[in-house]
Amino acid sequence: MEHILLQPMPVEQIELLIVKSKYIGDNEAEFILHKEIYLRCCDVLVENERIRTIVTIIIASILLDQPLVTQRQYIKSLYKRFGTEANKSKANLMKMKHDLKTVEQRGNGSWYLKAALVERIAAEELALDRYAEEQSLINNHCPRCAAAQGDEISVGCDACGGTGKIAVTMRDAKAFFNVLGLPYTPYKFASEYWSKILFIVSELQIK
Ligand SMILES: [Zn+2]
Repeated sequence: MEHILLQPMPVEQIELLIVKSKYIGDNEAEFILHKEIYLRCCDVLVENERIRTIVTIIIASILLDQPLVTQRQYIKSLYKRFGTEANKSKANLMKMKHDLKTVEQRGNGSWYLKAALVERIAAEELALDRYAEEQSLINNHCPRCAAAQGDEISVGCDACGGTGKIAVTMRDAKAFFNVLGLPYTPYKFASEYWSKILFIVSELQIK
């Protein structure tokens, strides 16, 4: 029995787990995937349990296109700039700010109108922020390419480097270690963990 448990799962089965987790939201598949990634971490000699767990989360996040917590600010800022809803919201804001300027130029008489516009602008800005925040939690798809609706997807996109996804960089992964109280110098992180992370990802990702 022990022998069977220690057998690494064939890559085809892992690919199936990735598909189920990513596209069907199958939690059990995701749980098993995490366990399999953890075993791969043992194979490549990630030395302690805590680091293996953190490395597992990073690898699962890359395989499943789930943003790491350390990527969210950046993804959120992209949604504010390029998201489909953001474009509508920004158009509204522009009109309201233009109206506000006109009202301000009238002088003191229209304070109630000014107050109403100031309040609406604040509400719209808050809604835009919430929209970007929510989107940044869902996946790592590039909002700029998504807004292009697949027409000229990714060509020349400087937000995603032409991949359609905001990939986890070494910097994001290292920041994730730091957030969890494991500070490393970039060199030590690159040589000890990032190369192992990329190796396991290349073995398991759907090719
Ligand atoms: Zn893009």
